[in-house]
Amino acid sequence: MKRENIFTLIGIVVISVTSFGMLTSFTMDNKAFEGHKFPELGYAYNALEPHIDAQTMEIHYSKHHKGYYTNFMTAAEGTDLLKTPLEQIFANMSKHPVVIRNNAGGFYNHNLFWENMTGVKNEIPAGLKSAIEKDFGTMEKFKETFNKAAMTRFGSGWAWLSVDKNGKLFVSSTANQDNPLMDVVEEKGTPILGLDVWEHAYYLKYQNKRVDYVNVFWNVVNWKVVNDRLNAARSK
Ligand code: MN
Repeated sequence: MKRENIFTLIGIVVISVTSFGMLTSFTMDNKAFEGHKFPELGYAYNALEPHIDAQTMEIHYSKHHKGYYTNFMTAAEGTDLLKTPLEQIFANMSKHPVVIRNNAGGFYNHNLFWENMTGVKNEIPAGLKSAIEKDFGTMEKFKETFNKAAMTRFGSGWAWLSVDKNGKLFVSSTANQDNPLMDVVEEKGTPILGLDVWEHAYYLKYQNKRVDYVNVFWNVVNWKVVNDRLNAARSK
């Protein structure tokens, strides 16, 4: 093998291991759980430009997201929650104080959000595409449904693509920092794609025009990650 090819191969292996590690540390491998860690962003603040600007990303990640994490850690201090994976906390959300619901939710939701975006143009994997077409008819119909969920969420919250317990895809929206894993929400499932529609996610660049932000989101979706999440959710 040529020297350059070896370096390319090493590069691919490193990238694969890194992206797999990111996913497992957040959501997919409860057995390896070793406490709640604030994640690396995984790309530069300006990586999603021009769609999502660097200043918004910096404030969103280093202030808002960090704030949810810190408040969650403070509220969980001295309790078993420090050793409990987020999925398990969410499954029993109704038994915990609202400060845990808001901040553990905010911590998890942003982990997922950063992961499901990329500045690298990518094609949707065939498995995910056919799953979407099966459950929504067409990609266009799916995006329309998702955009509507994002646009009709009054005030702050999230739009989601999730997998239900039968493996079927569905779109929903939740208020504040709730998510479909929580026992307190109406439509339950495993989220595989999330869009933050709090004003802090778009106001600097798009001001009141949430619709513009929702539309550009499709330019930065990391379909590979969404596809991996679909496969993981269905093999549970
Ligand atoms: Mn946010």
